[in-house]
Amino acid sequence: MLTNVTGNIHKLVIQFPDGMGEVNCYLIEGKHGYTVIDTGTDSKEAKDGWEKVLASGIAIEKVVLTHAHQDHIGLAKWFQQDVGVPVIVSDLSYEEMKKNRVSGLKDRLNQLVIKHGGQGLSDHMKDEASIYDFEPDGLFENNQEIQLGDDFYQAIWTPGHAPDHFCFYHKEKKVMIIGDHMLKDINPVIGLWSGEEQNVLKDYFASLQVIKKYPSDIALPGHGDPILHLNDRVEEIKHKHEHRLEQVLASVKDKAKTANDVCYEIYGTVNIILNLSSFMATLTRLLYLESIGKVVRKEVNGKVSFESC
Ligand SMILES: [Zn+2]
Repeated sequence: MLTNVTGNIHKLVIQFPDGMGEVNCYLIEGKHGYTVIDTGTDSKEAKDGWEKVLASGIAIEKVVLTHAHQDHIGLAKWFQQDVGVPVIVSDLSYEEMKKNRVSGLKDRLNQLVIKHGGQGLSDHMKDEASIYDFEPDGLFENNQEIQLGDDFYQAIWTPGHAPDHFCFYHKEKKVMIIGDHMLKDINPVIGLWSGEEQNVLKDYFASLQVIKKYPSDIALPGHGDPILHLNDRVEEIKHKHEHRLEQVLASVKDKAKTANDVCYEIYGTVNIILNLSSFMATLTRLLYLESIGKVVRKEVNGKVSFESC
């Protein structure tokens, strides 16, 4: 079940039916038990995965989260209240939790999608407010040293994929626990999952630069295999975004289009319910292009379209 990835760090892949389908949880050994990084979604499948590990008799000291997306925080409340393990989150994740624990997130997302040309979200989309409804046992903030297992890591704020995203860095071991900030084979989605319009791609580009300041031999992401050449991967990810930005810009040349229209052109899909990630990636690119003066928005009857200028 647990695979050793490096030194005292083990990986546990937790599976679940929705979204990415699985998440990497890392267990860092220490004399008081393991520190668990991230948990999986609030689902039977994910809980089964953890129950098997717990049944083997291992001790868990605490749970620490990289960010408050559902596939990372989903079972944190269960860990705290049913397993009896303290949960530590960043001050910014705590803010996200407070926002998300009142329902209404789905409504905000729905309004955003409709405003940008989509047809709205599926009625089947779950309201996950309850997973945020607990008080963390401790908070950490940017640049704070945080104990994971027996080691001290630096918490590094890397907004973009999520406004509350943190990586954890061990200077001597040159290990970076990188969450969803960067993945090995795919680009993490840069979306507006809080339903608020913000220039998150600008934040993401800045956070990619931040990572280059920390020499790492291995980076452990929230999904997929470890990244061994982190700086090369930063350049690849930037390249891919630049290519997509050019595509988006070309799509709105001489004709105003909504984010949904552009998404359809680039990704070849009209089904926003299944492809909310593509829609989000397109929208955040349009907002970025707007911020650097490459496109302008037009708003007619509450519906927004963009055109190059
Ligand atoms: Zn995420």
